[in-house]
Amino acid sequence: MSENISVLGLGLMGSALADALLTAGHRVTVWNRTPSKADPLVAKGATRAATPAEAVEASPLVIACLLDYPSVYQVLQDTSLAGRVIANLTTGRPAEAREAASWVAERGADYVDGGIMAVPHMIAKPGALILYSGSRPAFDRHEQALADLAEPRYVGEDPGMAPLLDLAMLTGMYGQMAGFLEAAALVTSAKYPLKEFTETLLIPWLNATAALQPAWAEKIEAGDHHTEVSNLEINRVGLENLVSAFREQGVKPDLLLPMKTVIDQRTARGLGHEGLSGLIEELYNEGR
Ligand code: NDP
Repeated sequence: MSENISVLGLGLMGSALADALLTAGHRVTVWNRTPSKADPLVAKGATRAATPAEAVEASPLVIACLLDYPSVYQVLQDTSLAGRVIANLTTGRPAEAREAASWVAERGADYVDGGIMAVPHMIAKPGALILYSGSRPAFDRHEQALADLAEPRYVGEDPGMAPLLDLAMLTGMYGQMAGFLEAAALVTSAKYPLKEFTETLLIPWLNATAALQPAWAEKIEAGDHHTEVSNLEINRVGLENLVSAFREQGVKPDLLLPMKTVIDQRTARGLGHEGLSGLIEELYNEGR
């Protein structure tokens, strides 16, 4: 079903979102601080709003995709939000999302926060995912239109949940990239072909080890770090060995060292019999 939707912010991502909505047949109103960025979308059938207020006035669903949360407030401050759904797809922190939800609610509108798990060229293509949290009724009302951007996944009433899970997914990605870069430095130090190593050895290995993670998640949820597979002491020795091997190859193990520090800390507490999942206990602040 076609809807009236406004998009505030036509940078790389905002333009991709507006373009996908136009392609899906929605009536799209667009606004951008630098007006010329709206030209290609207007040529495709979008309506240009002269001000953010005009854009908010035009549609029940208003999508904001701006640089950061302060720019969202700047853009929305002189608009009349009452009765609108604000879907804020700007990247931010959980606390910022909760604050924005209250700010929007005080102005009589519903708030949904979104975490975009895609780059612009992936929008409206299989594999693109957007996490949403906040008002469930607002999400339900517009779910079909949001599905024209990417697979929409609602993750809870707490507006901070989508940004939190977005950050958690990025964290997993950075960890994987850190491992890849260290492995690549070691492999290239021995002049072994990196692409071949990556495709034929590393990726199958990472897929196999990733398959263990749901079992770790269960252990963490149960607070049970018992293992019969590979305990922390064995991993402590393994990491020592790795770090020495790196140095012998003339490669710095800098991205691996933080993990070694935490393993050393945990085993020093006499918990070397636990599995690696026990390291999570070292990451929580006391009094959690
Ligand atoms: P761009 O830098 O391409 O666009 C930024 C947008 O914010 C522009 O429309 C810019 O307007 C606007 N803007 C910046 N400051 C202000 C302000 N003070 N007042 C009004 N408008 C302002 O960034 P993207 O489009 O790539 O990113 C937008 C959001 O999407 C970010 O939060 C980003 O993290 C998120 N995102 C982006 C991804 C990506 O791959 N690009 C992936 C996932 C999330 P102007 O054109 O006038 O400068």
